[in-house]
Amino acid sequence: MHPVAVCSRGPGIKYDFLWVRETTLPRRPFVSGIRAGSSALGFLSISSLNLGKFKAGSRRHCIPSATALSSSGMVENLVFDVVIVGAGIIGLTIAREFLLESDLSVAIVDAGIPCSGATGAGQGYIWMIHKTPGSDIWELAARSKQLWEALVKSIEHAGMDPLEILGWKKTGSLLIGRTPVELATLEQRVKLLSGAGVRAEFLSSTDLHLKEPELEVSEESGAAFLLDDCQLDAHHTVAFIEKGNRSFASHGRYAEFYHDPACCLIRSSQNGEVQAVQTSKKILYSKKAVIVAAGAWTGLLMQNLVSQTDVSLDIPMKPRKGHLLILENFNHIQLNHGLMEAGYVDHQVTASPPTSASGLIQHEHSLTSISMTATSDMMGNVVLGSSRTFSGFNTETEESIILRIWERAGEFLPNLKNFSLLNLGSSRKVRVGLRPYMPDGKPIIGPIPGLPKVFLATGHEGGGLCMALGTAEMIADMVLGRTFKVDPAPFSVQGRCCR
Ligand SMILES: Cc1cc2nc3c(=O)[nH]c(=O)nc-3n(C[C@H](O)[C@H](O)[C@H](O)COP(=O)(O)OP(=O)(O)OC[C@H]3O[C@@H](n4cnc5c(N)ncnc54)[C@H](O)[C@@H]3O)c2cc1C
Repeated sequence: MHPVAVCSRGPGIKYDFLWVRETTLPRRPFVSGIRAGSSALGFLSISSLNLGKFKAGSRRHCIPSATALSSSGMVENLVFDVVIVGAGIIGLTIAREFLLESDLSVAIVDAGIPCSGATGAGQGYIWMIHKTPGSDIWELAARSKQLWEALVKSIEHAGMDPLEILGWKKTGSLLIGRTPVELATLEQRVKLLSGAGVRAEFLSSTDLHLKEPELEVSEESGAAFLLDDCQLDAHHTVAFIEKGNRSFASHGRYAEFYHDPACCLIRSSQNGEVQAVQTSKKILYSKKAVIVAAGAWTGLLMQNLVSQTDVSLDIPMKPRKGHLLILENFNHIQLNHGLMEAGYVDHQVTASPPTSASGLIQHEHSLTSISMTATSDMMGNVVLGSSRTFSGFNTETEESIILRIWERAGEFLPNLKNFSLLNLGSSRKVRVGLRPYMPDGKPIIGPIPGLPKVFLATGHEGGGLCMALGTAEMIADMVLGRTFKVDPAPFSVQGRCCR
């Protein structure tokens, strides 16, 4: 047995690993088609287990020196067709797609729980208004929105209310301009969106006031209005997807492991194929695919996972912190639509952060931007956003940013100025999340060259809720060899994260 490497350091996690030589274990039967067996520490053998295609060429395996042990001193081995790392909206919807559209078994692991990442902070806009027809993400977002709408219809057909189940509301969206330059840009945007077949209108200041009386409107105000933009509640939607996924557990096709970070990939020494994901407690063998959907942590995680290998991978991803301010049961303003200031479009695609892949920052408030978003959620809470900061993996609430969100919202919704943020007390909540930011503004969806069977699905920045179902479909198209509904080329790993 040779001590070799530190395999992975996730957020706040450090695991030391030992390479161990293959040895023999007694054959163990599968349980529910997925359990392979347990291995005593330091004595793991693939060839002795009933793992089918894993048999050949697996000589060395990465075993955690301490943390992966159960109380009995055994490492549990489980076998699935697909293993997904990260149970945010992207990982969960990918699991859902495989469960519904194939007969493959799926395991999903998360360092925390599903809403502990960016997903739990998301405002829930399933919007096209700030996306540009013809851009790389347009087709993906449009397809994804179509899939959300199909899901909503299926919920209705089942006699349920999508508002209760998903927090789904078809509010329409308003992208608000307040200068002649912004209005000219919005008029152009409406033409472009209409040309792409989306129901879009340009609203003059008078029309805007009629649509949304809460807004401060001057003669120079106006808006682009998309009639079919929708919103959901991320927490309700995640709960619904988890419930659906769990219904496959009794058939032996689904298992989830939370508070159990992935920390190592186990590869065949013969052909380099990834055979399993090592978590802090288990070894999850994968027969068909490993999907890494670890949001803002993906870059750092993969950097650690491949650091001892010949795979050249450099994911230029950064965590982009966002705050939302929630005013619970705040009935002093009434919002009819989802709102966003026109400047949001530029804030979203702002220049690269002054950071390295480690997420360390050069200055505490590097490139913080605030742009007004506002909506009323399914519970009647007013949700105000949003901020964008590059400040590493820190998720602490920054009061100065909350104050700026509040003040910015007050410039558009003057009734808020009648209240003091300090006096809102316990009805004031804050959500913070790390958006997975890619400098080129596009998610990464596809196989990793040099790591057979491993796929990335991440980098959706401020649009992961919107693009989740399309992303899940695209990954399943790749793994199952189905025809693509959206061209995956713009999202490939090759050329963007490796030479
Ligand atoms: C303030 C704010 C507002 C937003 N508003 C919207 C919106 O209106 N519409 C929209 O479409 N999008 C919005 N977004 C963006 C959206 O929330 C994200 O794009 C999306 O949630 C990303 O999902 P994800 O699954 O990739 O990442 P996450 O939700 O971050 O999930 C990644 C998961 O990976 C896990 N993980 C990390 N490391 C490991 C490991 N080693 N092993 C196992 N698991 C690991 C984490 O615990 C986490 O649960 C918003 C984001 C923020 C912050």
